[in-house]
Amino acid sequence: MNPFIELGIRHDIVNAITELGFEKPTPIQEQAVPVLLTGSNDFVGLAQTGTGKTAAFGLPLLELLDFSQKHPQALVLCPTRELCLQIAKDIEKFAKNIPNVHVVAVYGGASISDQLRQIRRGVQIVVATPGRMLDIIGRNAIDFSNVKYVVLDEADEMLNMGFQEDINNILSTTPEEKKTWLFSATMPAEVRRIAKNYMTDPFELTVGTKNSGNANIEHHYYVVRARDKYAAFKRIVDSNPEIFGIVFCRTKVETQEIAESLIKDGYNADSLHGDLSQQQRDKVMKRYRERSLQLLIATDVAARGIDVNDVTHVINFSLPDEIENYTHRSGRTARAGKTGISISLVNLKELGKIRQIEKVIGKPFIKMDVPRGETVVEKQLFALINKVQQVAVNDDHIDPYLPKIMESFADLSKEEIIKRFASLEFNRFLEYYQNAPDLNVDARDGFTADRKGKADRFGRDGYKSDYTRLFINLGSVDDFTRGDILGYICNTSNISGKAIGKIDLKGVYTFFEVENAWVDKVFKGFQDVDYNGRSVRIENASDGRGEGRSERNNNRSFRNGDGNRRKRDHGGYRDFSGGKRREKSRW
Ligand code: AMP
Repeated sequence: MNPFIELGIRHDIVNAITELGFEKPTPIQEQAVPVLLTGSNDFVGLAQTGTGKTAAFGLPLLELLDFSQKHPQALVLCPTRELCLQIAKDIEKFAKNIPNVHVVAVYGGASISDQLRQIRRGVQIVVATPGRMLDIIGRNAIDFSNVKYVVLDEADEMLNMGFQEDINNILSTTPEEKKTWLFSATMPAEVRRIAKNYMTDPFELTVGTKNSGNANIEHHYYVVRARDKYAAFKRIVDSNPEIFGIVFCRTKVETQEIAESLIKDGYNADSLHGDLSQQQRDKVMKRYRERSLQLLIATDVAARGIDVNDVTHVINFSLPDEIENYTHRSGRTARAGKTGISISLVNLKELGKIRQIEKVIGKPFIKMDVPRGETVVEKQLFALINKVQQVAVNDDHIDPYLPKIMESFADLSKEEIIKRFASLEFNRFLEYYQNAPDLNVDARDGFTADRKGKADRFGRDGYKSDYTRLFINLGSVDDFTRGDILGYICNTSNISGKAIGKIDLKGVYTFFEVENAWVDKVFKGFQDVDYNGRSVRIENASDGRGEGRSERNNNRSFRNGDGNRRKRDHGGYRDFSGGKRREKSRW
């Protein structure tokens, strides 16, 4: 027999959930459904997101309510509009084969008149965020006097978001004798208090250990310097070519900046935060769900309740301020029995926080090394090979071109052709990651291996001696940015941007480093050159003008939109991590 039938769920519903792929109940469903189906208990369920909570309360509601009546009989309160929509949609799906089930999602940021219209038409289940619900109650537009069940979903989050008073007010409009079912990932004192104030002898259920994270999640951390965070993050993403991730930041500004930088660097990313309109948020979420986006950069509040299956990685670009939020963040991956990885990028000072989180989730973190350039290159190469193996070949379309293609390759052996195809991409990976520094910080002395290595090879300040520092009498007063002057120098002397090292843009002049091999070419290129009527002068700064040497850096960013055209990025990665972007970007 179907195990849901054994739990007491009727065939109509079981057929619908079977179509959704529910073959057997999750632990919380297995334990909660029989209790809730009695309809006679208050209930407290401690369970993480992604454990199947919605069906755990949704299925019993569908069994218990009287759908021949058209008044509200169940009220589900949840913290965010995303979760609200998700719950309403899920319940509708479960109820697909039951006639006359009406569910309304009531949440802010969308037209209230549509919601009021649906309520007027008659609904049995109201799924709502507290703010909008109160608004509707305040308009006397809903009657909760026949409500039999109230579900408080993600109760800890609702309290975190300051909804305590709203919840009190909403509950005061429902009958005394209703049953209250509370679900929460964690059980802080405030949630306990709600349980105490609103419930009579509730049935308590804990799935997994209290406050613990999902067992299917691995927790990784990387120790990097604040200014290397973005570069390290990109390497982690690049070494996971199939990543489908959510990246958490602490602030809206950080969220936006990272998303912008990633987009600029050719990644498939967008941001989700509270400053976006509902329409914008829906659009971003739609793209993410459809996997047109690979990386969703989000704040805690915006990402709450996101239920997207198959999220492979959660990345804590910044650790959350509240430890509890770590559980919510990581709960976005490893949903419905899948596995997932939760990554945290921390500096040395934040190691204590990792230890604190370990205590809360009851699971150790695994320390990982930021992948080295070679590792990333290898991963990407084999991802490409994998893609070639998997690619769908449309014979009808490609066949007409084949004779000509075959002819072009007639002189090459199979091995040579493979080598060339692989090199097409490989050369670009190699170019981007060659000389990429080691970004791992040694916990003992706080230095990256690369810095130490540089110091060993090139002296204490790490200056690489195969560069010459030059002076040019143009600077920011001539309206040059560093990107502009880089372009100007390269174009005028006809050398590649790769030959240029550090650029110090000053007011009326600029210092820049050039690989020794190209110095003569720069001098030649600038012979008899005028800029806005002024004669341009290049001098060797080491002949007296130099201001001391500094570490050669790598802070240009190239992006590559179409695989061939490489565009010079004129803006630096602006400062959310305390420094400029130091690594060449993605291919
Ligand atoms: P929830 O915790 O309710 O947000 O559910 C997390 C995900 O698990 C959702 O995508 C559900 O569709 C899915 N799910 C819930 N119950 C089951 C089940 N018994 N079998 C398979 N998937 C499930």
